[in-house]
Amino acid sequence: MYLFDADSVVVSTATELLRTHHPVSVDDQSCANCGDPAPCEAAVNARQIQAAASLGADSAGGGFA
Ligand SMILES: [Zn+2]
Repeated sequence: MYLFDADSVVVSTATELLRTHHPVSVDDQSCANCGDPAPCEAAVNARQIQAAASLGADSAGGGFA
């Protein structure tokens, strides 16, 4: 059982957020997009959505172009 369909726009939006909201580097743990300390709120929320979507799918997380 999962909360979001892995193909839903909610999940694809979360994936896009995670792609843009990530630490600048190992040495600079601030978000490259919004500048907040990583993980920023956007990244945390997106990660939670992905986790909720992948609870029922072992293969979640790959396949995005
Ligand atoms: Zn951010």
